[in-house]
Amino acid sequence: MKFVRIVILIGLASLALGPLAHRGKCQIQKASAARTKAVLLGTGTPVPDPDRSGPSTAIVVDDRAYLIDFGPGVVRRAEAAALRGVTAARPGNLTVAFVTHLHSDHTAGYSDLIFTGWTSGRTAPLEVYGPSGLQSMSEHILQAYRVDIETRTNPNGPMRDAGRFPDAWKVNAHEIKAGVVYKDDKITVTAFATKHAMESYGYRFDTPDRRIVISGDTNPVDEIVKACDGCDVLIHEAQSVELLPKLPASIQSFVAKYHTTTEQLAELARKAKPKLLVIYHAISFPPGIALPDSYRPALPRMRCTRRQEFFRTRSARDIRENS
Ligand SMILES: [Zn+2]
Ligand SMILES: [Zn+2]
Repeated sequence: MKFVRIVILIGLASLALGPLAHRGKCQIQKASAARTKAVLLGTGTPVPDPDRSGPSTAIVVDDRAYLIDFGPGVVRRAEAAALRGVTAARPGNLTVAFVTHLHSDHTAGYSDLIFTGWTSGRTAPLEVYGPSGLQSMSEHILQAYRVDIETRTNPNGPMRDAGRFPDAWKVNAHEIKAGVVYKDDKITVTAFATKHAMESYGYRFDTPDRRIVISGDTNPVDEIVKACDGCDVLIHEAQSVELLPKLPASIQSFVAKYHTTTEQLAELARKAKPKLLVIYHAISFPPGIALPDSYRPALPRMRCTRRQEFFRTRSARDIRENS
């Protein structure tokens, strides 16, 4: 097969997407003449890892950023990216977002994106694209914050002078089907159906100089192979085959139906042939974070001291015996 570069991303990372100086080594580039960048704002999971915000990615073309998912922490990670030079990701500049599905780990930053974006200078409604249920979720968030909106915009409020942009706090939620869902002078966005626990989509981004595909949460599907088909970057979730046997049976069966293992992703990438494969949204338990209570019947008092130790050296039996 053609050589595929792979990076596994945990923290905030910007992929400038130019040619690598040393092919075959995992690395993140710092500078490139490419117009398009992929910025991994958050690569986490439902696990409350303080070092990994919830899933959110920004595709940046020139001075414009397009978000995919808005997990918890998205706004602060966007500001962190802006402070590192990706000014398009400044919260007030974020005006377009695509959501892969409505699981909370991918949407718990939605209200933050709406309101912190607004108070940070967004001048138009947020445009959001995603599956059925997005409109209802959007309406309920706006309703939940109606006191905040009213207080900020009334004659004594801090946003009362934003009269030129009276709709900036609003959201236009677009419920989509597979196909082209968005197009402007910099980008065409195509949604394709994925296989998860609810209606879900992956997205392909065609920019002037790059084709980037992102999976969201999904079992392996041919649609991703077709969407990528030699794409520049495939950003795909994966769950460690080493970790899975150590998790409760209910989690294992859920992953088997609705997520992708690292082995399955290797097989998928062989067919999709991305020039760069980025693995994200992998379950991990960082130092000091115990498994949630709901996991404990399978692994009582499990707690790891080093991330690598958990992944590479400790078997479930070792953990049980040492707990
Ligand atoms: Zn999910
Ligand atoms: Zn998820």
